[in-house]
Amino acid sequence: MKRYLITGGAGFIGANFVKYLYEVEENPQVVVLDKLTYSGNLDNLADVADREGFTFVKGDICDPEAVESVMDGVSAVVNFAAEVAVDRSLNDKESFLKTDMIGVHVLLESVRNHADTVQRYIQISTDEVYGQILEGSFTEQSPLMPRNPYAASKAGGDRLAYSYFASYGLPVIITRASNNYGPWAYPEKVIPLFITNLAEGRDVPIFGDGSQIRDWLYVKDHCSAIYKLIHEGKNGEVYNVGGGQEITNLELTKEILRLTGADESRIRFVADRPGHDLRYSLNCEKLKSLGWQPEYDWKRGLKETTEWYLNHEDYWKPLKAKLDKRYITGFWNEKK
Ligand code: NAD
Repeated sequence: MKRYLITGGAGFIGANFVKYLYEVEENPQVVVLDKLTYSGNLDNLADVADREGFTFVKGDICDPEAVESVMDGVSAVVNFAAEVAVDRSLNDKESFLKTDMIGVHVLLESVRNHADTVQRYIQISTDEVYGQILEGSFTEQSPLMPRNPYAASKAGGDRLAYSYFASYGLPVIITRASNNYGPWAYPEKVIPLFITNLAEGRDVPIFGDGSQIRDWLYVKDHCSAIYKLIHEGKNGEVYNVGGGQEITNLELTKEILRLTGADESRIRFVADRPGHDLRYSLNCEKLKSLGWQPEYDWKRGLKETTEWYLNHEDYWKPLKAKLDKRYITGFWNEKK
């Protein structure tokens, strides 16, 4: 690909993907379009900001002019831009519907206008569109049963992207990844939240009894999957991307306590959130048949991630200082 447009590239996974491009390609041309919402952060891109061929544009994917202004000559679009946090979607649904559905529509229309150059559009969806599964694993054919406003708006964007393949033949691929973790994540996400809470001498809040099961995916493994799909994926297809290692939130927490030298008295069980999915599990055979494998097992990934946060206080301390205390304590349903 000659030129990448990475929307939402100042966020956690987007910024890791931009860095990945610079690792695996000699001189990639990369344009990042990002609105810089609370979770977008130019510090995430500081390592690549001076690289040749890198351009950052502040803009909203819901704004057709902003999107058109960056689409010229683009050969691959990867759309990470989204409102993401489930807890936030319970309090503020509208911005989720806007960015995760209308924004996708604006991007797809612009790709239609540039169908002569754009060879690939990747819609980064999520495994949350399937809802929860108590036994077995979701395949790409499983029905979509989203159970919170975030997942429902992502499901809308996911299917809208597919419709542009079916209706207009656009080169669309959709990925549905499991929970990501790694460096440069906004500290409201559970893993950085817990590591940084412990580093600050706070407790860690666990929703319900902590028996919810998640399949954690190290962010670099997600990046390698997306890169493979840009080059080897099939148009109109959905691909699950999972780490293949399911653990309960309680197991995850205990490992973080161990890595930070804290004991279990630091755990606070707090009221569960509504519609909290009990278990996610993905069958990733379709992606593996292209030769992709996750490289990180969760203990190695968690160790590296914990060390990264403990060594990057300058990065997360200012972000955490601005974070709504309800997300830090886990009392999501309290009034501000
Ligand atoms: P993030 O919140 O860290 O990053 C989102 C980025 O999008 C931010 O930089 C933000 O400024 C930008 N953005 C938000 N609204 C925008 C708009 N209207 N226009 C332009 N930019 C906008 O989120 P993340 O965890 O990096 O997630 C990225 C993508 O991956 C999302 O689409 C999410 O649904 C998907 N995903 C995330 C996970 C996960 O575990 N984090 C798992 C599966 C899929």
